[in-house]
Amino acid sequence: MPDFLDQDIKFLAGVGPQRAELLKKELNIASFRDLLYYFPYKYIDRTKFYKIAELDANQAYIQVKGTLGNFELIGEGRKQRLLASFHDSTGSMDLIWFAGIKYIRENLKPRQEYVVFGKPSVFNGRVNIIHPEIETASAQQVTTGVLQGFYNTSETLKKRFLNTRAINKIQYNLALAIEGKIYETLPPSVREPLRLMSLKDALRQIHFPENTQLLQKATFRLKFEELFYIQLKILSLKHRREEVFKGFVFEHVGYNFNTFFQNNLPFELTNAQKKVIREIRKDLGSARQMNRLVQGDVGSGKTLVALMVALIAFDNGYQASLMAPTEILATQHYNTISRMLNGISIQVALLTGSTRKKERERIYAGIESGEIQFLIGTHALIEDTVNFIKLGLVIVDEQHRFGVAQRAKLWKKNAGIPPHVLVMTATPIPRTLAMTLYGDLDVSVIDELPPGRKPIETRHYLENRREQVYKFIRDQVDKGRQAYIVYPLISESEKLDLKNLENGYELLQKVFPRYKLSMVHGKLKPAEKDAEMNLFKEGKTQIMVATTVIEVGVDVPNASIMVIESAERFGLSQLHQLRGRVGRGAEQSYCLLMSSYKISNESRKRLETMVRTNDGFEIAEVDLQLRGPGDLEGTQQSGLGFNLNIANLGKDGEILRIARDTAANILDNDPHLQSHENQLLVYHLQRMKNTEFDWSIIS
Ligand code: ADP
Ligand code: MG
Repeated sequence: MPDFLDQDIKFLAGVGPQRAELLKKELNIASFRDLLYYFPYKYIDRTKFYKIAELDANQAYIQVKGTLGNFELIGEGRKQRLLASFHDSTGSMDLIWFAGIKYIRENLKPRQEYVVFGKPSVFNGRVNIIHPEIETASAQQVTTGVLQGFYNTSETLKKRFLNTRAINKIQYNLALAIEGKIYETLPPSVREPLRLMSLKDALRQIHFPENTQLLQKATFRLKFEELFYIQLKILSLKHRREEVFKGFVFEHVGYNFNTFFQNNLPFELTNAQKKVIREIRKDLGSARQMNRLVQGDVGSGKTLVALMVALIAFDNGYQASLMAPTEILATQHYNTISRMLNGISIQVALLTGSTRKKERERIYAGIESGEIQFLIGTHALIEDTVNFIKLGLVIVDEQHRFGVAQRAKLWKKNAGIPPHVLVMTATPIPRTLAMTLYGDLDVSVIDELPPGRKPIETRHYLENRREQVYKFIRDQVDKGRQAYIVYPLISESEKLDLKNLENGYELLQKVFPRYKLSMVHGKLKPAEKDAEMNLFKEGKTQIMVATTVIEVGVDVPNASIMVIESAERFGLSQLHQLRGRVGRGAEQSYCLLMSSYKISNESRKRLETMVRTNDGFEIAEVDLQLRGPGDLEGTQQSGLGFNLNIANLGKDGEILRIARDTAANILDNDPHLQSHENQLLVYHLQRMKNTEFDWSIIS
């Protein structure tokens, strides 16, 4: 049944082919449905008119009723602009246009009454509005109450007069066209207990709210629905996977594990490590495939947990693999683990993009014969050429960029029974986000750092105190410590970034003539990178100048200073990750954040948060709060795999919880969604577009 809402947007009254092209290109609105789900980003009280005398540059959008004065064309060529004065009983201001001048002059008439709408600014002591929205005072407003929705548009659209008011009008035409054609998407059993507004009403109210209460109900309903279907999808995937996939049963804790525990364990496990290992052991004995996420702040000792779990796999005759996001990390894991396994005869191999052909072939043969038990490496591990004889466990480290679909790929690494999967992340993820990002995983948290760690002291310095920072570094290095100095990627061009780093490096060589410096960046060959890292690790260089390539996992206990240049440019989680590179040894560590004076409020909040706390979970919460609803880029990359249209994981945690509970309840009562009433859910689950879930694996 072709749906009414799937019609091309060009057929809507007030749109037509040309506007349709623009809407498609600029806003990705191609159908009636796309437009219907293009919600306002804010609402303005249209009953309130400001007086010109009340205006200042701090106000957001305002509307003013007044009379248009004469036009004046100012400047030449590209700088040309159209200016008109606009006055009411309290004063006058300027309206300014840089584009569409011809149209404005032809369509607006001096000495007529208009309603002007926009964001005021002040220039030379005079209030103005640039590219105001303007219409005759008598024009019919398209609202059904006091609130008017505002829609994001683009510069191109505004130039072609598809501004927020125009979209508002098209929305109104759409509202008329779809009258009686919106079908409910949630069954009564979901709607009624939560007293959700009907879809039809919600879609009407979200665009044309009659009052704030109804708008709130509409917003809740639409957010709920969005989050509910995602949860239903994730949870039904999880249910079905648990049904379909058996898991290897690792019943023994045997020789390898016990020997390691008795002879090789260099320290007491923390209680948190013990707890997590117990949770994992339970999964491994359950005959179900494990899909578990271990969250633990930087330095909480995840590597050791991974190794001990791998030992259980070996004890039961299975192979294991450990995958890291970078070569540096993979190599570091390989070295650490080989060293820790001293005296225990497990064959460990390292496979990365730069592994030589001959070695590569040896490894392929070794894992196919089972001679190699533990394969450590980068993404190269999941390539199809890598065939294990008996892969029982896959550990994915430091990898919140590893989505559901990629995990599904791992499950196929064995014919028949898939390996157990353990994902480890150092990015503490707020619960709400984890429920969605990792909704199909069970979660363990290592919520304790090994004893004896001194909290890292974090300070924020402005440019003018740079000398002081250098002096501090000198004092510390003279005491035998080492320092990282990190530069951000600041331009689109890798060349410029590299230049920036190299300039910094040259400068630092002059600042610290007595010390040896290393430099690492993304353009180095892996071997060169490793060589530099090793010099630093061995203490042959004292200062490591780097871009963010050192972000994840690198472990140099003697490094106790982390200087972050232009810290205002980094995101919170990145700052936290970088800071985690120090504080790994016995010495007091420091994180020094350098920034310019002029930074945005948001940057300031980030830096303040860093100075205030070392708690990764707290930082993650602030991070999520700071990022606006539109900015889900971070989560996109981390494999969220779908766009959120209206819900915001930072702010809608409560709605998410309700949505998840509701979905879980439904699946508990009707695991295969077979009941008559739930067919509506099945229908909409199948409709869900843009998801990365690999359904093929379970069907
Ligand atoms: P992360 O969780 O960031 O991956 P690592 O596994 O790299 O942390 O561990 C950080 C450091 O802490 C390593 O040097 C490791 O040897 C050490 N470590 C791990 N567990 C313990 C423990 N229980 N007691 C003391 N030190 C530990
Ligand atoms: Mg680690």
